[in-house]
Amino acid sequence: MEDLRKEIERRRTFAIISHPDAGKTTLTEKLLLYGGAIRLAGSVKSRKSAKYAVSDWMEIEKQRGISVTSSVMQFNYDGYCINILDTPGHQDFSEDTYRTLMAADSAVMVVDAAKGVEDQTRKLFHVCSLRNIPIFTIVNKMDREARDPFELMDEIQNELGIKTYPMNWPIGSGKEFKGVYERHSQSIQVFSSEGTHGSTAVSSVKGSVDDQVFMDLLGAPLHEKLMEDIELLDIAGDEFDLAKVRTGQLSPVFFASALTNFGVEPFLKSFLELTSSPLPRMTAEGEEVDVFTEDFSAFVFKIQANMNPQHRDRIAFIRICSGKFKKGMEVFHYQGKNRIKLSQPQQFLAQDREMVEEAYAGDIIGVFDPGIYAIGDTLCPPSHKFRFEGIPTFAPEHFARVKPVDTIKRKQFVKGVTQVAQEGAIQVYKELHIGMEEIIVGVVGTLQMDVLEFRLKNEYGVDIKIDHLPYRFVRWIENEELNPDDLNITSDTRLVKDMRDRNILLFQNDWGISWALSHNKTLVLSDVGKVE
Ligand code: GDP
Repeated sequence: MEDLRKEIERRRTFAIISHPDAGKTTLTEKLLLYGGAIRLAGSVKSRKSAKYAVSDWMEIEKQRGISVTSSVMQFNYDGYCINILDTPGHQDFSEDTYRTLMAADSAVMVVDAAKGVEDQTRKLFHVCSLRNIPIFTIVNKMDREARDPFELMDEIQNELGIKTYPMNWPIGSGKEFKGVYERHSQSIQVFSSEGTHGSTAVSSVKGSVDDQVFMDLLGAPLHEKLMEDIELLDIAGDEFDLAKVRTGQLSPVFFASALTNFGVEPFLKSFLELTSSPLPRMTAEGEEVDVFTEDFSAFVFKIQANMNPQHRDRIAFIRICSGKFKKGMEVFHYQGKNRIKLSQPQQFLAQDREMVEEAYAGDIIGVFDPGIYAIGDTLCPPSHKFRFEGIPTFAPEHFARVKPVDTIKRKQFVKGVTQVAQEGAIQVYKELHIGMEEIIVGVVGTLQMDVLEFRLKNEYGVDIKIDHLPYRFVRWIENEELNPDDLNITSDTRLVKDMRDRNILLFQNDWGISWALSHNKTLVLSDVGKVE
């Protein structure tokens, strides 16, 4: 029992969120490097560049082949066992990216120091804030020209609605970037751009702000500016409050340069201390499940299809929420209403897949799925049956009308589309008085539309016709008592139902949403399809 608690307490499970190019891959590499998971930083990168050097078609296959290994990376550092969840961005940005955040206990938000808060960061942040998980910020690329740090803090607060607490403060930027002032220890850490270009762990000099050496090193103007900044931060900034960090109301901010390794290890140390061990999850009945019990429980948050058409088998990724997993153990699959033996469990360390013998609450493992799981499903002890609250449906941004080219293939079409929707790659909408022979498909990232076309052809032998639709936003109608036919909406707004028969409105622009709300006083809309 003691061991179980110790193992769980040393776990930290988080996702790194960012807009493409802010430095997520570089940071991940560096974190793995500190954990000794890879000898030289660079392997994550080479995986990524190999992936994007290929054509779109090949890419789908490649992506399928490798994204299994990139779904989660586990390594040990300083007594902690760290699970980093990969949040696919770039072309493979999809609903999976959002769902992955449901398996994390905290998030690290990487912001480009020159660009500030960008579109994808905003969307991912929004999903994290639904669960009030702690969010840490790294302002990256400080070795390049950066925006004024006070301005960046304001932007984070105004755009994302979270208060910030800078843990350190930059001294100069770009060519003039000298290092950071660490507020807690009241010392300066000096940046050195010489040496190995960040491919191995960096060393740095520490000392007090008042040391003559630092005054000499920074020069009077930079030193004075730093003193002023610190004073301003202490007077006008928010106070540090761990309780607010833990509930996602205050984001500790770190200025760093992932490429040169500067600030990465201090961030990691601080992050590990400030974040908590695996957070308890709620059952559908609203009860908290004790993380530290002996009883194993988990939920499915991602399903990865096999690209080989001969094998329809899949891998279901589960987040362990309590207790200990042992290979071959028998669990109860709540939604399937039967006992199953968890066979072929896998865990992923950097690039290699490994069979797992045991795993603990906080860990993510992949289990073989002969087609029985759906996203949000619960695995629990046969002696204590319950289900976790489900995973919400997130708003797609691209929509198309999809139908089989050959109407004779209708059956396979429906089967294939249902399957792909069940895996969570696409959302399917029905128009109110039309059947399944013609449907509207919504996806978060456009690549998923190609995945659908590719898979229907390869696995189901169905060619499809995709007509893109001009909708950009979907909103779930929250008021169940409302008769959707009574709604007063613009002619370019469309009323549909999702696979769970929930009423949904598709809008072409923000204006349409405002119009609908102002002309239907009782209407309540949500940008996530909440689960009961
Ligand atoms: P991702 O798309 O968020 O995964 O971003 P990457 O890690 O691939 O980084 C995008 C580009 O920015 C790459 O060319 C990196 O080498 C570069 N980059 C990442 N971090 C830094 C940094 O701290 N300083 C500088 N100068 N470049 C960086």
